Amino acid sequence: MVKCLPIDQDFQKNRKVASKHNDHDVWGPVEPPEKLGIHGTIVAVDWDICTGDGVCMDICPVTVFDWADTPGHPASEKKSDPAREKDCIQCLACEAQCPAQAIKITPP
Ligand code: SF4
Repeated sequence: MVKCLPIDQDFQKNRKVASKHNDHDVWGPVEPPEKLGIHGTIVAVDWDICTGDGVCMDICPVTVFDWADTPGHPASEKKSDPAREKDCIQCLACEAQCPAQAIKITPP
């Protein structure tokens, strides 16, 4: 498993939207399978840091996340996808609990 820095708190300034996935933006660079970018904006999950721990899924009170398969990615072969980021109530539980510090919440 690869140890990474936490998600960039200024990713919206430092990155550009590269694509869309499940109705949310993906902030590049995206070069699969090794670079997958940051998924989401309100609920942003850095897929290059996410280790597929799943605590975010367990604690989110409004079921924002779904699993996504990412075969060949060095940090993990499944990622937490903020599929329903617009439902987020900004409780910040996922951001606080993520062991990889891969999540940043930005209220809309
Ligand atoms: S901040 Fe709370 S409501 Fe929003 S995605 Fe994280 S756990 Fe879910």
